[in-house]
Amino acid sequence: QPKIRIGIAGYGNLGRGVEMAVAQSPDMELVGVFTRRDPASVSLLSAQVPVYPQADISQFQDRIDVLILCGGSKDDLPVQGPAMAALFNTVDSFDTHATIPEYYAALDEAAKPAGKTALLSVGWDPGLFSLNRLYGEAILPVGETYTFWGKGLSQGHSDAVRRVPGVKAGVQYTIPAEPAIERVRSGELPQLTTREKHRRECYVVLAEGAEASEVEQAIVSMPHYFADYDTAVHFISEEELRRDHAAMPHGGVVIRSGTSGAGTTQVVEYTLKLGSNPEFTAAVLVAYARATWRLNQQGVVGAQTVLDVAPGLLSPKSPAELRKELL
Ligand code: NAP
Repeated sequence: QPKIRIGIAGYGNLGRGVEMAVAQSPDMELVGVFTRRDPASVSLLSAQVPVYPQADISQFQDRIDVLILCGGSKDDLPVQGPAMAALFNTVDSFDTHATIPEYYAALDEAAKPAGKTALLSVGWDPGLFSLNRLYGEAILPVGETYTFWGKGLSQGHSDAVRRVPGVKAGVQYTIPAEPAIERVRSGELPQLTTREKHRRECYVVLAEGAEASEVEQAIVSMPHYFADYDTAVHFISEEELRRDHAAMPHGGVVIRSGTSGAGTTQVVEYTLKLGSNPEFTAAVLVAYARATWRLNQQGVVGAQTVLDVAPGLLSPKSPAELRKELL
């Protein structure tokens, strides 16, 4: 069985995580990393893997089976996703929930005529959490689904903060309200507003000459990301950021609380406690890259999501092995 040949487009936290996850997958090999920066300025964990300019990527069409897109959701993927999906089978972690339908349409339009498969919004949320929301709803149609995130550093939101003019560096933490989680676990079925479930905290290093009040206003009013939450913005030094905010833990819970048959309460919970959000997200991307390659070989082309992918396609094991060992 030839190895699945993987490329990485964009080398940030996620790109680094994908490099590590491919190294743990004996059925895959890493062909190279493609960056928009000067390749000489990007150093990988492994000296064996070459770095190429992303501008040259079309020359690699017959050398890469699946390209894993590791750009940011806010500005990179809306451009890179459709461009790359016309050339390669792709997997990405696009996580701007509100604009997934239009991103899906753009990928589908690019991938389908090219005979490529573009799997979007893979990771844990969207991704594994989406699957658990679906299982909960399908199995307990009478009930309510709750998702709580954190406490954790959100890459998507940190990315958004860092792109605000006047921000030199920064991170964002999502903090769940424990009393709200306990009410849900008890089977109470509370109605909770967005604001009641979580708050957001940003730690920001200002760029030289930037006005703190303008930066704060730009962050707290940002649609989709911050406008619907109580958001606190703290201005700190670069030294404090390095010392206190370097780790990237995250996690959360998806809870389906409902009633079956005779009005019996049933509560289903899926929990993630992640020491490193990007390493875990990258591991999910790599498992789904395997599924993407198999789907493409089966002739399933165009945009796809985790909701369309059969679970067995994620595993390096054969369907017969899976029936024997895991069923
Ligand atoms: P990141 O570190 O900011 O990297 C994003 C891009 O920025 C990279 O692809 C890279 O592109 C460029 N870059 C990285 N380091 C750079 C540097 N030092 N100087 C200049 N450019 C640099 O972002 P990330 O943490 O990998 O996260 C990427 C996206 O993953 C997030 O936006 C988020 O939406 C998504 N995500 C999704 C989930 C999920 O569950 N679905 C979970 C976590 C994250 P070049 O190499 O081309 O320059």
